[in-house]
Amino acid sequence: RPRRLPVTLAHASYEVVIGAGLIERAGALLAPVLPQKKAIVISDANVAELYLKPLLDSLGDSGFVTQSLIVPPGEQTKSLDRYRELTDAILEQKVERKTAIIALGGGVVGDLAGFVAATTLRGLPFVQIPTTLLSQVDSSVGGKTGINTPWGKNLLGAFHQPAIVLADISTLATLPPREIKAGYAEIVKSALIGDAGFFAWCENNAPRILGQDPDTLAEAVERACSFKARVVADDEKEKKAEGGRALLNLGHTFGHALEAEMGYDGRLLHGEAVSIGLRLAFMLSVRLGYCPATDLDRVTAHLQANDMPARISDLPQTFSVGTLLNHMTRDKKMEGGKLTFVLVRGIGQAFTCRDVPEEAVKAVLAE
Ligand code: NAD
Ligand code: ZN
Repeated sequence: RPRRLPVTLAHASYEVVIGAGLIERAGALLAPVLPQKKAIVISDANVAELYLKPLLDSLGDSGFVTQSLIVPPGEQTKSLDRYRELTDAILEQKVERKTAIIALGGGVVGDLAGFVAATTLRGLPFVQIPTTLLSQVDSSVGGKTGINTPWGKNLLGAFHQPAIVLADISTLATLPPREIKAGYAEIVKSALIGDAGFFAWCENNAPRILGQDPDTLAEAVERACSFKARVVADDEKEKKAEGGRALLNLGHTFGHALEAEMGYDGRLLHGEAVSIGLRLAFMLSVRLGYCPATDLDRVTAHLQANDMPARISDLPQTFSVGTLLNHMTRDKKMEGGKLTFVLVRGIGQAFTCRDVPEEAVKAVLAE
């Protein structure tokens, strides 16, 4: 039996359904939450090859009229060009307002298809069927959609909540182990932000999660989604000055700088950058006297025990402290000469700090 997690927001509520074999039952799961049995499935070529047919079969069996649009895999696909191709293809056939857009794929497909759904006719019903661990525990929940521009990542976007999320953990069997670990970094992130008990559980269960034991994996996905749902419910549009949705950026200011320097060419996955970023955020917090060093040691040990990158020096490239710092100050978090960071008072106790001295950040980067 799948786990069903409710997400309750001010103007929307939906379920995240987590379990094995959900794609084969998608028709029956979607019919009650969509206004019409008409849907356009957007997927990437890798995922379509593996899971499009079972999805279309299941939708067809439940009486859905479907169509599918396939984009190339990869971050490059989150572009204005692809957005335009998709919306042209959808508008060309006089789509109706009740036709649903279904994203079948990882975060790239979810963000792009979500943005298409958010903007076409000012909003079509939207369904997320995330097929990477990262998208199951992070990007498919919370309603952020968007595409990249030459000016930066995710700069065009909209909030558009899905009608339902189907996190089919069976799809993870075909995901490369590196992508699994990258997704696991976001699970660890959620535990480190706000749930020390969850982190202790991760310490005990990581091999079963990464080894895809179905029950343990489903529980990890459920706990991470439920954490994210709580944070999003508290601050749906990221308006809070303290805490709120911004906490989900733990490790990300460092991570984004590393990603920008490595150049999004697949050598450094987002989750790998986050893994290093999490440890750097703990180091910075220890250095500034907010966090006990023993907590940093636990985080480092956990990442290393599970063969995840923990140090900048684990990467096949050297970085200049100045260049990394430049990325961070451009990362729109600079206020009045001081840097704003998500720091921790310990495992499970993240907070936003507005006055982090540049010197401390430099020292941590130079380690
Ligand atoms: P992705 O979508 O690029 O997927 C990674 C790779 O795995 C792709 O090559 C894809 O084709 C392949 N793949 C997907 N599912 C598979 C499966 N089941 N079996 C085999 N291969 C499969 O990457 P991702 O890590 O899922 O998502 C990254 C994106 O998510 C980034 O663009 C990031 O900005 C975005 N994101 C968005 C949010 C949000 O809140 N909206 C949050 C975090 C990340
Ligand atoms: Zn992330």
